[in-house]
Amino acid sequence: MEYKYQDILKKCSRCGGCQAHCPLFAETGREPYVARGKIELIENLQASNIQWNDRLAEIFSTCLLCGSCSENCPNEVEVVKLVQMSRKDLMAARGLPIIKKNIFQHLLKYDGRLKTVGKLLAFYQKSGVQKLARGTGILSLFPMQLAEKERILPRISGKAFRDTYPDETGLKSPRLKVAYFTGCVTNLVTPKVGASVLKVINSNNVEVIIPKQYCCGVPALASGEIGVGKFLAEENIKYFKDLDVDYIIMDCATCLSTWLEYPELLKSQDAEHLAKKVMDINRFLIEVIDIKLNPPQELGIKVTYHDPCHLKRTPGGKSNPRELLKHLNPNYQFVEMALADRCCGSAGSFNLTHYDLSQKVAKHKIESIAKSKAEIVASACPSCIMQLNHSLQNSGSKVEAKHVIELVAECYK
Ligand code: SF4
Ligand code: SF4
Repeated sequence: MEYKYQDILKKCSRCGGCQAHCPLFAETGREPYVARGKIELIENLQASNIQWNDRLAEIFSTCLLCGSCSENCPNEVEVVKLVQMSRKDLMAARGLPIIKKNIFQHLLKYDGRLKTVGKLLAFYQKSGVQKLARGTGILSLFPMQLAEKERILPRISGKAFRDTYPDETGLKSPRLKVAYFTGCVTNLVTPKVGASVLKVINSNNVEVIIPKQYCCGVPALASGEIGVGKFLAEENIKYFKDLDVDYIIMDCATCLSTWLEYPELLKSQDAEHLAKKVMDINRFLIEVIDIKLNPPQELGIKVTYHDPCHLKRTPGGKSNPRELLKHLNPNYQFVEMALADRCCGSAGSFNLTHYDLSQKVAKHKIESIAKSKAEIVASACPSCIMQLNHSLQNSGSKVEAKHVIELVAECYK
């Protein structure tokens, strides 16, 4: 589907209903940060009444792309699309900030370089340099709140997950064969999630292959760098299109939503065909594998669930992770929390570029988790899990954030 500014803009009736649902408006109380304010600005940009400048660049970079406004909009205005289109125009008019430009052009497009960065970060954490840097307070001398930001990263293994597991898992007569798109966070930061996926899938007699792959492209696409986003999407399609598999499974809600946008981005039959095979791991277990479920528990460790924005609007995106948490692992008792489907403030790299605002957004989630009395908060997006763990630690909470699949994997020897 081709999106055009005027087609979307004319849908907005200026009712202002989006104010009540925008996590950023809740923190700032400022109209330019909510959908209606952005729409007003886009109309003026389109009419050439105003030109891109620093202030507008800051406003359009300040959006979580959470879609909460559109979800509650009486006219179904596609706000996320509007913001993404504006960021593309902004990039064309003014270019990207130098840090982002270097990351997209010289890092994201090279899987080997990403792995090297992972190794360097692991060395930084393990060698004592991190302890020294934190202890001396030297990080606080750097700009951009480096001291806080480096704490968002959990302990990194240093070995990329995709390098530590065989491509073929060798089941004798598997009932299905799937390809696993691991995403960058599982590959470089949380290999335990990847190991859990393999354990659960293999235990259910499904063959898994892990083909060569690149970043899904979302950091570039969300920043308006469509060229790099397209390059990464094309590379991924190239490595997956000839595979003889029934499904392409993912543990990351953001990667999933990006793959679902590949057909619109690439306008190719291969992308169209593969997007139909893409499936979130929770949905795969419930709807395809029909995994055996137990009666819900009323005792055990309390676990609650945070809905990733990119998963909750996909088919079964809300129900499937909850079904697994309620009915699978007898050690856990599921409890629903308030604001479960409110954005956690992670939003890709938003928690790095807008650290303070992202922590204010996260604070509401952390309070909800505390009120639920859960000891674990599960989710289905590695980026959300990193943000939740960081914000929980910041608040002094002992609650731990984990991927749903890690709790599911505990059921298997
Ligand atoms: S985006 Fe939707 S909710 Fe917001 S002002 Fe426009 S019509 Fe109303
Ligand atoms: S996408 Fe989210 S953060 Fe952006 S304007 Fe809409 S509700 Fe606000």
